[in-house]
Amino acid sequence: MRRLVILGGGTAGTMAANKLRRRLNLDQWQITVVDQTDEHLYQPGLLLLPFGTYQAKDLIRPRRRFLSSGVDLVLGDIERVFPVERKVLLADGHRLPYDYLVIATGTSPRPDQTPGLLGPQWRRSIFDFYTLDGAAALAQALETFQGGRLVVHIVDMPIKCPVAPLEFMFLAEAFFRGRGRRDKVELVYVTPLPGAFTKPIASAQLGSMLDERGIAVEPDFLVERVDDHTLVSYDERTVPFDLLVTVPLNMGAEYVARSGLGDELNYVPVDKHTLLSRTSDRIFALGDANNIPTSKAGSVAHFEVESFVDNFVAHVDGRPMTDRFDGHANCFVESGDGRALLIDFNYDTEPLPGSYPLPGVGPLRLLGESRLNHWGKLAFRWLYWHVLLPGRPVPLPARMSMAGKHQTPRME
Ligand SMILES: Cc1cc2nc3c(=O)[nH]c(=O)nc-3n(C[C@H](O)[C@H](O)[C@H](O)COP(=O)(O)OP(=O)(O)OC[C@H]3O[C@@H](n4cnc5c(N)ncnc54)[C@H](O)[C@@H]3O)c2cc1C
Repeated sequence: MRRLVILGGGTAGTMAANKLRRRLNLDQWQITVVDQTDEHLYQPGLLLLPFGTYQAKDLIRPRRRFLSSGVDLVLGDIERVFPVERKVLLADGHRLPYDYLVIATGTSPRPDQTPGLLGPQWRRSIFDFYTLDGAAALAQALETFQGGRLVVHIVDMPIKCPVAPLEFMFLAEAFFRGRGRRDKVELVYVTPLPGAFTKPIASAQLGSMLDERGIAVEPDFLVERVDDHTLVSYDERTVPFDLLVTVPLNMGAEYVARSGLGDELNYVPVDKHTLLSRTSDRIFALGDANNIPTSKAGSVAHFEVESFVDNFVAHVDGRPMTDRFDGHANCFVESGDGRALLIDFNYDTEPLPGSYPLPGVGPLRLLGESRLNHWGKLAFRWLYWHVLLPGRPVPLPARMSMAGKHQTPRME
């Protein structure tokens, strides 16, 4: 019996387990998924929870329910991987030997990494929305915020879903306008980037949308500490706030560092086309846990898994891996008032305007706002539970296509 152990039963780990379950002969393979909890959280819903679109119960399902029969689930905290001995040690002392290992333990917000963030103002006037507790607490804070300076802030990149803080800003603007409080709220977007987003064309488009909505931007801001109600940068700039919505530093799991498998942020260095670890040909890393130069997003996890599965089957049979993951990512960007943009890009092509998936027809608009894009974002939750996680086929190519994209960007 050959043993495949998948660390992390979130978006990438669940999809990989279910797809490989259909491709590997279960008389010869044992597939085990390890996760610390039996609760699978639909993380994109955390953006909408503070604005009352969802409640916590809408976003959580039992993890076991989404793993096909024939896949074992072990619940426990991963303590360490021993790559030479090919064993995983859990915090309760349990040991899991493996022949092949997939690391899919994602990335987590680490407010402890910024001095002052977890001080007396945490969850009083400082909130995050990347955790279920944080998003729920923020819902209360927004409801009672009568006016003042609301600052949305990113500590450093990379973060998962890099557009989520921008979306939060657009939604907050529409939220306060809808409640007749917009003139009492000053909105400021504080980012370590030189502009609104990582890629130039999208950054210009999203930057002008912030401008149109009267939202100030504080670029190139690398926070050093939080002093009471003020962000202080390394170059001693200060941004005061009454309410701070921060996206703390995101880091991979600690056991990755303990196992000597990670970079300085605990991400696993891999080949960006095959997702095979750079230090062990028995280890792959999928989803947010790896260090590939594209967005950390559920869509990336999905497209990665599509190409990984063929490569994995070839690799364990001793054949070359011929599928090359191209860094494909796509993301709906909520812009408020029931509208959203869609961006689609990969390692080589930045988000461009146009239509998706069909040239000229769409029906979704790339880098432009539409109501249909917003409905696409809401429909995605159903698709996630019922199509993506079970590993069912999606009628969209995993590789990014140039069809429908305007290569010479035109301003609309
Ligand atoms: C607010 C927000 C909005 C988002 N919006 C979008 C969006 O619109 N579109 C999009 O594509 N993506 C979005 N994302 C990103 C998306 O949710 C993630 O990129 C995706 O879930 C990554 O999948 P993953 O499997 O790599 O990690 P995860 O799904 O996070 O799974 C990691 C798993 O590992 C487990 N784990 C971690 N450490 C340990 C340990 N030591 N021991 C045992 N188990 C462990 C965790 O419990 C978890 O189940 C959003 C994320 C957030 C936070």
